[in-house]
Amino acid sequence: MRFIDGFRDGRSAAALARLIDAEARRERDYYLMEFCGGHTHAIFRHGVQDLLPPNVHLVHGPGCPVCVLATGRLDGALELARRPEITLVSYGDMLRVPASRRASLLKLRAGGADVRMAYSAAEALQIARTEPHRQVVFFAVGFETTTPATAHLILEAQRLGLANFSVYCNHVLTPAAILSILDAPEVRELGAVRVDGFIGPSHVSAVIGSQPYEYFAEEYQRPVVIAGFEPLDVLLAIRMLIEQLNQGRACVQNEFTRGVTREGNRRAQQLVAEVFELRSSFPWRGLGELPYSALRIKAAYARFDAERRFELTLAPAAENKACQCPAIIRGVRKPTDCALFGSVCTPRNPIGSCMVSAEGACAAYYKYRRGVSVSSGVSAPSVASTSSHAHPAASA
Ligand code: SF4
Repeated sequence: MRFIDGFRDGRSAAALARLIDAEARRERDYYLMEFCGGHTHAIFRHGVQDLLPPNVHLVHGPGCPVCVLATGRLDGALELARRPEITLVSYGDMLRVPASRRASLLKLRAGGADVRMAYSAAEALQIARTEPHRQVVFFAVGFETTTPATAHLILEAQRLGLANFSVYCNHVLTPAAILSILDAPEVRELGAVRVDGFIGPSHVSAVIGSQPYEYFAEEYQRPVVIAGFEPLDVLLAIRMLIEQLNQGRACVQNEFTRGVTREGNRRAQQLVAEVFELRSSFPWRGLGELPYSALRIKAAYARFDAERRFELTLAPAAENKACQCPAIIRGVRKPTDCALFGSVCTPRNPIGSCMVSAEGACAAYYKYRRGVSVSSGVSAPSVASTSSHAHPAASA
């Protein structure tokens, strides 16, 4: 815990905030996108935005795997769960995400379907081993952080000779999502979203390394700083991005040197390459169909692929028009722009995935900033107020 506390120290945060305030040029604005929902929650939980000068803006990105799962793909999980022979195993967040016609896995379970919540992928394998009469399907959702664990699961199922285990694979790729943001009309042509640089996710990068981001930095001239999920990590990354922008540089820097290397985790990458291959196209909520943006299970492991085994028919599904999740995922709107936020839509009664997930932007706003104008720099508790050296921007 002492190690974590060091990255939450109020005095150090205030000192970093003073440096940022001194280095951020008054004649310009800085728009920095935190790609990952984990960063969004760290920023709100610790009041990081309140430590920044008013011309440093944090834009929330699409890095929440629950939020970006297209409704049509979620409908596929419900179709599996409706089959009497199937036990569908899922992480808790996914159970509450509204699918088409306001259905959800939780409602299916209440109606008698065998849907079980797991804290780890390994639990699904354990269920398959102990209940051989059931067809156990693991609903795999996530970015590169969790993909190696799913690959390991499939290899383990093969080693054990399990005939009643399969995976409904919805693993997606971070670089493809960043590319789609940079190529989006809102960013390239319309000027509706400005992104000057990216705070990159450390857990994803621990697997894939920092190298894949070099393309964005060079080709799109946007600096990327990979950062940990503690408030001092985020503040340091913001300072590094501002420094690059002031100097007219655009390269990849690694703030999270305690866990990320340029090459990433080779063993994890080998596991993923053994079991998975690229899909030519995959639907994302908010970002549409993106080429080569997700993984599927290789033909050599087809018997562990629930889509093949159960001949799943997937159709595109319309998103709920009242929900602004797609625009929030693209950084075009904020949760408070949604008319349903905090009234019709709450964590107890979520209308969209961004209010369900622990990493969703709407959930973060609801938990930490209800009724607060986020762009105004109003002071908030946490890191900002724990310091005896309050930063001027923190009380502006
Ligand atoms: S507040 Fe609810 S309905 Fe509105 S965008 Fe967020 S999740 Fe969707």
